[in-house]
Amino acid sequence: MNIVARERLYLFDTTLRDGAQTNGVDFTLHDKLVIAAMLDDLGIDYVEGGYPGANPTDSELFSEDHKLAATFTAFGMTRRPGRSTSNDPGLAALLDARADAICFVAKSWDYHVRVALETTDEENLASIRDSVRAAKAKGREVLLDCEHFFDGYKANKKYALACATAAYQEGARWVVLCDTNGGTLPHEVEAIVGEVVKTIPGDHVGIHAHNDTDQAVANSLAAVRAGARQIQGTLNGLGERCGNANLVSIIPTLKLKPEFSQAFDIGVSAEKLKSLAQVSRTLDELLNRAPDRHAPYVGESAFATKAGIHASAILKEPATYEHVAPEAIGNRRKLLVSDQGGRSNVLAELDRIGIGIDKNDPRVTRLLDVVKEREAIGYAYEAADASFELLARRVLGKVPGFFDVTQFDVNVEQRINAKGERVTVTLAVVKVKVGDENMISAAEGNGPVNALDLALRKDLGKYQKYIAGLKLTDYRVRILNAGTEAVTRVLIESEDETGEHWTTVGVSPNIIDASFQALMDSIVYKLIKAGAPA
Ligand SMILES: [Zn+2]
Repeated sequence: MNIVARERLYLFDTTLRDGAQTNGVDFTLHDKLVIAAMLDDLGIDYVEGGYPGANPTDSELFSEDHKLAATFTAFGMTRRPGRSTSNDPGLAALLDARADAICFVAKSWDYHVRVALETTDEENLASIRDSVRAAKAKGREVLLDCEHFFDGYKANKKYALACATAAYQEGARWVVLCDTNGGTLPHEVEAIVGEVVKTIPGDHVGIHAHNDTDQAVANSLAAVRAGARQIQGTLNGLGERCGNANLVSIIPTLKLKPEFSQAFDIGVSAEKLKSLAQVSRTLDELLNRAPDRHAPYVGESAFATKAGIHASAILKEPATYEHVAPEAIGNRRKLLVSDQGGRSNVLAELDRIGIGIDKNDPRVTRLLDVVKEREAIGYAYEAADASFELLARRVLGKVPGFFDVTQFDVNVEQRINAKGERVTVTLAVVKVKVGDENMISAAEGNGPVNALDLALRKDLGKYQKYIAGLKLTDYRVRILNAGTEAVTRVLIESEDETGEHWTTVGVSPNIIDASFQALMDSIVYKLIKAGAPA
């Protein structure tokens, strides 16, 4: 048998630099350290930390050494035209940064050299050569990001190649071809990279794709097919405009699709791949964003199937409706319990949550009837896994009555305060009965639901310790028109100290009441998960 050695393909993450250009994203130093450690643990080869000298956070980040297995990389511009390398403060900050590697960015489109840089083609080439040489002299690994490479190549092939070659000949480890405007298509990327690797060996060529035609991942893979051996991207495709190439989609494709997995090794192991869904969610968590349910590989819905006929086939043979196994990336199969689904959906879901029941048990029919009835009035169990589990346990008679909310009161008041400002103050008071004990808690919140949540979780007596790590991570409201009156559906996403997250649902004509139902389900679900005694 002929065993062909796999080639090494390198992953370069720029979440902390290019990803930080995203509208509304502002990483603190702490965020950056947490994300860098997470990327390192995943097995990413290069972690680009930022732009030393450009802002206080990045300057501080590069003021000390970091213990990463990954190559910690600083980003910045080549020396300014008309200056020497020893007389350029921007370059000096970059050379002084505590980093293993320096990634320079330089123009490679002659049009930009003239218009944006206002210098000559030759001076731009000299700047590339001088900067690479200066960084090499400092003992750094050097990369050159060729800005607008693909557009530049189309306009003036010879000059674009001259920029890339100048860096390579001076000893840059990588020359990275950037689709800065993100408008290049996969077949163009493949053709152009194919030409470049005739001059610069592919194991020195990288791809940096933006997602403006929704093909940054495809463009990255096209470049690899043509010979490039480094991919630059970000977690969850973070990045300005439409984002950068999404490493969270690229990594599983490289690991699980035979065309790539048989040809290449990457730094991410099969074991670490199983943490990918969690890595993706952790980033959203840090950014305080709701995860994209429809994200390929890692989204809540990536392996969710609705129709009953598909569900029964999946139970028999998962590969029939799944392109890869969800467990490989730390995701899970989800069979949706909905009015379109049948008995097999309910049985599969009961099986997943560990409720063993005979498929001919009459309670299965009852549960299915209750689900259908409730979905008809607005409940959405396919989106609220925890509420479904509670409903199932209730129909099967398996939910303890932990506590009782005997009364609650929410008061919203708008008034002028002592400073003459108009303020809105919300106060919630909740009366709870735990065993024989009656308790009363009050809390102020930034809105009625927040106040109610805080009051409810303030004192649950002997159950308090079980819900200490519980927190709400998302809250979504929809107004539905069911028959003659409008009802409100509230979906609440919660998370606990173990990182587990779940969704609960409430429906009522009154938004506070709907929120209350969803809050209660979340707390009761957590108590059951934590094994709290009845
Ligand atoms: Zn970029």
